[in-house]
Amino acid sequence: MIEMKNSPSGKINLDEVKREMLVRKDELENELAELASEKISTDQVLDPGDQASTSSLEALRSSLQNNEFEEYTRIIGALEMIENGTYGICLECDVAIAEKRLHAYPNASRCVACQEAYEEKQEM
Ligand SMILES: [Zn+2]
Repeated sequence: MIEMKNSPSGKINLDEVKREMLVRKDELENELAELASEKISTDQVLDPGDQASTSSLEALRSSLQNNEFEEYTRIIGALEMIENGTYGICLECDVAIAEKRLHAYPNASRCVACQEAYEEKQEM
């Protein structure tokens, strides 16, 4: 039985976040493993007359794999940050990073303002 914990509003429940991330990590690991094994079986049954659709399917599959791998990398990074106690805290100004941003980029290490300033500096 799962006990539902109510976290005080505004405060991120790290245990909850971590638990969700571990679930997502497992899902992504399974999906990536599945994608990898599908790729092998497609190569084995490759029909020369069907190469066009196979390669577009392959492209779709690899972009899917890239997206999932990217998400996977972010989750790994975020889990490390939770361990280090730096998760959700801006590296530059020590302000809590918006939950919405963390949802899209769990391993975000800067708040939006600092990230923009950082990227501007990189471009110069
Ligand atoms: Zn900041």
